[in-house]
Amino acid sequence: MKFVDYDVIVAGGSVAGLLCAREVAAKGYRVLVLEEDYEIGTPEHCGGLVSIPAMDDLGIIPMRGTLDNKIRSARMISPSGKEFTLDARPQQVIVLDRREFDKQIAHQARTNGAEIRVRASLREVVKDGVRTSDGHVKCRIAVDARGVSSLINRDRTGTLQSAQYEVYADWIDKEMVEVYLDQERYPGFFAWIIPTRHDEAKVGVAGRGINAARVLEEFLARKGRYSAVRKIFAPIWIKGPIPEFVTGNMVTIGDAAGQAKPTTAGGIYSSGLGGIFAGKAISKFLESSNPDDLGEYQREWSAKFGREFEQMLLARSILERLDNKAIEGLFDSITPDSLSEISKDGSFDFHAVSIAKLLGVKGSLKAAQAILGNELRRLLG
Ligand SMILES: Cc1cc2nc3c(=O)[nH]c(=O)nc-3n(C[C@H](O)[C@H](O)[C@H](O)COP(=O)(O)OP(=O)(O)OC[C@H]3O[C@@H](n4cnc5c(N)ncnc54)[C@H](O)[C@@H]3O)c2cc1C
Repeated sequence: MKFVDYDVIVAGGSVAGLLCAREVAAKGYRVLVLEEDYEIGTPEHCGGLVSIPAMDDLGIIPMRGTLDNKIRSARMISPSGKEFTLDARPQQVIVLDRREFDKQIAHQARTNGAEIRVRASLREVVKDGVRTSDGHVKCRIAVDARGVSSLINRDRTGTLQSAQYEVYADWIDKEMVEVYLDQERYPGFFAWIIPTRHDEAKVGVAGRGINAARVLEEFLARKGRYSAVRKIFAPIWIKGPIPEFVTGNMVTIGDAAGQAKPTTAGGIYSSGLGGIFAGKAISKFLESSNPDDLGEYQREWSAKFGREFEQMLLARSILERLDNKAIEGLFDSITPDSLSEISKDGSFDFHAVSIAKLLGVKGSLKAAQAILGNELRRLLG
């Protein structure tokens, strides 16, 4: 084998890149992670909502510094203020401090032998390696884990602009996530409140074609008095996975591969598992030099998430076409039985069917049903 500086170079030191590096290093291969920011985990651009079963799958036990909060319920609010509440306890949802969480994975990767460099970035993938801010480095496999920034140039129609502030306010319920639907204010998405501690929350909005900062500030003004102690603005990707995760010596993982949920843009779990599956497949390929082993990564991710993501995309296309009147009708049609069924049987990580049940084939969405009925049935089927 010709001389290489590293077996694998990972661009992006966040959940997907670090988990990938952790897996490759565990097999004894030389891995370098390049993170263009000054610090792993910072700036944080995440709500941190994740389920405990997902954390188990990622091989991470949340530590005291990583775990911010436990969620007991989720309240959905209609444009006119109607609401219903789901019991979230069966789904075991927690809120992570992403700054600490990413450092915890970095520690795992480092313990396995990976090298991590901050303030170092990938410029370009070349034939025998990568060009970085520190010069040319040879490697056998380059991993693109640069998040949504990798996708924006590919397809601008797949992103929505989001704004999320960390706020202190006394109207925050410490144990309840809130989701506000309103197609006029947040077209194609919603506003959210994710409590982190007593009187502290991450409050955000996203939507197609909106000025996210302005819309968020209007939302906060309606809620009452608050102090914003941190503001972030980031694009989210809602178009699902890219067609090819592997091209030549380059492997794309996490949000860079479109592995965040098309419904909520949550990606800690599905993007993180993308990193793990890729890391395992890369290790196999480094051993065998058989490209089919590399291809195993996409097959494994698609077997786990492919159908669910297709259903989420379908759910998104239905939700996007509902106007506020139809949303109000939907809220009127929800029964205590359907709520308790969703709370009991629903999954935080695989939630397309729960959305379909909420949309309700027999519900009162009469106007929308004529157009959407077939799609709803496909979603439920
Ligand atoms: C406002 C908001 C709220 C969210 N809330 C949730 C939530 O509650 N739950 C959930 O599961 N998901 C949530 N997500 C999504 C979640 O944050 C992402 O799915 C997840 O972080 C994806 O991880 P990743 O490793 O693929 O990419 P990212 O976390 O985006 O990391 C990419 C990394 O690559 C680095 N980078 C970029 N370019 C280069 C380069 N050229 N060279 C080197 N490094 C580079 C970046 O600095 C960054 O550290 C949210 C996202 C947003 C924007």
